[in-house]
Amino acid sequence: MIDYSLFENTDTAFTLKSDSELERAYFLFKMISSQPLVRIGTAATNFALKANLPVEGLIRSTVFDHFCGGVSEDDCLSVIDKLFTKKVSSVLDYSVEGKETKDQFDNALEKILKIIRFCDEREAMPIVVFKPTGFGRFYLYQKKTEGLDFTHEEQEEWNRIVARFNAVCKLAKEKDVEVLIDGEESWMQVAADDLVEDMMRMYNTDKTIVYNTLQTYRWDRLDYLKQLHKRAKQDGFKVGMKIVRGAYMEKERNRALEKGYESPICENKKATDDNFNSTLSYILEHLTDISVFIGTHNEASCYLAMELMEKYNITKQDHSVWFGQLYGMSDHISFNLAEAGYNVAKYIPFGPVKDVMPYLIRRAEENTSVAGQTNRELGLLKSEKKRRKL
Ligand SMILES: Cc1cc2nc3c(=O)[nH]c(=O)nc-3n(C[C@H](O)[C@H](O)[C@H](O)COP(=O)(O)OP(=O)(O)OC[C@H]3O[C@@H](n4cnc5c(N)ncnc54)[C@H](O)[C@@H]3O)c2cc1C
Repeated sequence: MIDYSLFENTDTAFTLKSDSELERAYFLFKMISSQPLVRIGTAATNFALKANLPVEGLIRSTVFDHFCGGVSEDDCLSVIDKLFTKKVSSVLDYSVEGKETKDQFDNALEKILKIIRFCDEREAMPIVVFKPTGFGRFYLYQKKTEGLDFTHEEQEEWNRIVARFNAVCKLAKEKDVEVLIDGEESWMQVAADDLVEDMMRMYNTDKTIVYNTLQTYRWDRLDYLKQLHKRAKQDGFKVGMKIVRGAYMEKERNRALEKGYESPICENKKATDDNFNSTLSYILEHLTDISVFIGTHNEASCYLAMELMEKYNITKQDHSVWFGQLYGMSDHISFNLAEAGYNVAKYIPFGPVKDVMPYLIRRAEENTSVAGQTNRELGLLKSEKKRRKL
């Protein structure tokens, strides 16, 4: 029987938060619930960082500490250990974005390999993650997605991207750590999808190690999954999929409009929700072939996953089903699901303050645009503050 009041339990949700952390979270969500404030704050922060003004301390003690585990992977250890006392696992997310040089990509690779070795020693870290564009230039993924020929130099650069993917998946397989590969913009995603499929073919033979990401705000993704499933069955490999709704909606719509092609995004929120839930149902019905990491803060989708797991006799601890939320968001889902016995992991972003700004700005904008979700966070924090006073 599903307990539909599970996510109302604020005692469990905020059990790790001190009173002052609770106050800070409330203040922060209150601030980012205001659209003008986020717009002004984003512009001012970008300017201050570019002008080398001393604002890092302020950013760290507010948004950064709330949404990130630290500047380095070692900084995150105390957060990881703390979460695991409540059975919540961690996925360290090196959230440095927009890099363009070979050294930067090699550095990102070293970080991920180091994290996999970290995972080997820690039960609290069964999964790692990286972004395709963390390992190579966006331009190359786009060119390949468009079916254009590479120059000799570009081909060599692409070969290095493939080698980086391979190094991560190979070590992950050796150490029995799962690898999530994030989904990005649709106009570079075909190249990433093909590459991840190659990795699945190589490393998902007996169990699922490699996971791609399906963004269900795209109306074509369930068909893509069904075709991939067919190929996987034919060729004898397992599919791993993180499913999310998608983080680049405005950008996708604007580009389609500007360039005059059909938008790849569902026409409205309901269509995205339906698509997410149909994809979730399809996967849970075929769990022997497809493993899933359900990346969402949507309560209805989590309840649906619980219902479907019950329907298909999937145990809560089945290693093929993970629930995931971002650090600093939806603790009421993460901690209550973990307490109820499900597999749960938090994405813990880390990196130098300046470099994780695009990630932080996306979180602030997301919480501003999804008014319902921010109000929900505020309501829960308020209830917990009240409960503690009583
Ligand atoms: C663990 C984890 C990993 C993630 N990894 C990725 C990733 O690899 N790639 C990525 O792109 N995102 C990723 N995200 C972010 C994710 O895609 C969503 O932006 C975010 O989780 C909000 O969606 P939701 O399901 O939590 O909640 P909800 O609040 O129910 O949904 C909000 C989402 O619905 C969609 N939406 C909103 N309005 C409309 C509309 N008018 N029309 C159509 N669709 C609409 C958008 O996708 C929006 O983000 C990840 C999220 C989590 C929790």
